[in-house]
Amino acid sequence: MKTNRPLAPETLAAQALGFIDPENGALVPPIHSATTFERPPGGIVGPGYNYTRTDNPTYAQVEALLARLEGGEEALVLASGMSAVTAPFLALGPGDHVVVQDVLYWGVRAWLNDFATHWGLKVQYVSAGDLDALRAAMRPGETKLVWVETPANPLWNVVDIAAAAEIAHAAGARLAVDSTVATPVLTRPLEHGADLVMHSATKFLNGHSDVLAGALITARDDDFWQRIRMVRKDLGMVIGPQEAWLLLRGMRTLHIRVRKACENALAIAQAMQAHPKVTHVLYPGLPDHPGHAVAARQMQGGFSGMLSIRVAGGKEAALETMRRMAVFTSATSLGGTESLAEHRRSTEGPDSPVPDDLIRLAVGIEATEDLIEDLTQALDF
Ligand SMILES: *Cc1c(COP(=O)(O)O)cnc(C)c1O
Repeated sequence: MKTNRPLAPETLAAQALGFIDPENGALVPPIHSATTFERPPGGIVGPGYNYTRTDNPTYAQVEALLARLEGGEEALVLASGMSAVTAPFLALGPGDHVVVQDVLYWGVRAWLNDFATHWGLKVQYVSAGDLDALRAAMRPGETKLVWVETPANPLWNVVDIAAAAEIAHAAGARLAVDSTVATPVLTRPLEHGADLVMHSATKFLNGHSDVLAGALITARDDDFWQRIRMVRKDLGMVIGPQEAWLLLRGMRTLHIRVRKACENALAIAQAMQAHPKVTHVLYPGLPDHPGHAVAARQMQGGFSGMLSIRVAGGKEAALETMRRMAVFTSATSLGGTESLAEHRRSTEGPDSPVPDDLIRLAVGIEATEDLIEDLTQALDF
């Protein structure tokens, strides 16, 4: 039966946009391992595939799905989340001014400080979620890009995307949003006015801790987007065809995984709030979180699978709690089916703004009671 109602995002993801191979009826797209494609003599430039560093047919279905889920015009898959972070900055020029939030995925800050400033990019940091500070930092005509992450690692500050977009646009800048943690299941930044969405597809999008990948989705196919495309090609920031295929496979279950992780994370946050050894629970789903009101407006159906707890007794107590965990695994990363715990301060090093007593929890899709019981017994010493 045909309906006129547009299909829900989870239907689009579960069916990989309804892919059926036109040649043989297969429900799963093939992997094109070719690095090179036949071209008419003299025809290297122009439409069609020519070389995998430029593009590969295995990317097409997953990029189409990403664009559709985010409501963008086009999407690109890249070699890693960090490729997807750096490509838009590399598409800018020396002397350009960018405004970046101060507490966010630490790799972004590290790369900007180590490399981007060396070739003349002017980087200014503003407090995450502070719109007045963002407004004050803008230099009309000179600021080209505003970079935010929401909810942001590892304190889960929430940024009002619509307000940030308005501020960026008023100064002639673009707004890019690292939406790795929210995923298109919970937030669609382009609908709130963002120009570019970035994902570490390594995390929830792939969802099985077995693919390193990044994604960018643009509201518009414009000059800036074409430059980003060139950066991917010229720097070889491409994903392998096998990885692109696995990413599409993983994304078929995105919605069900994200919903279960959100449900688990909220239950854990509530349980941890009642635990005497826990001094703070940082989760936008809790009404006392400073970003809760904006998150409730901007996120649909959940507040993500990520939260942090701060434990009484400082760093040693945090590390001891982690050593005692049996269901949570001590490891970096997030967005997999399995739950992970990490002492971020140790990972990020001495310059990190993260408190010493903080444990970041990346919640998976296990049984809620197993996770809560594990944390409860781990804290009980
Ligand atoms: C992991 C992560 C990145 C970097 O992605 P990689 O795939 O590890 O390169 C960027 N932003 C956020 C929010 C992340 O969690």
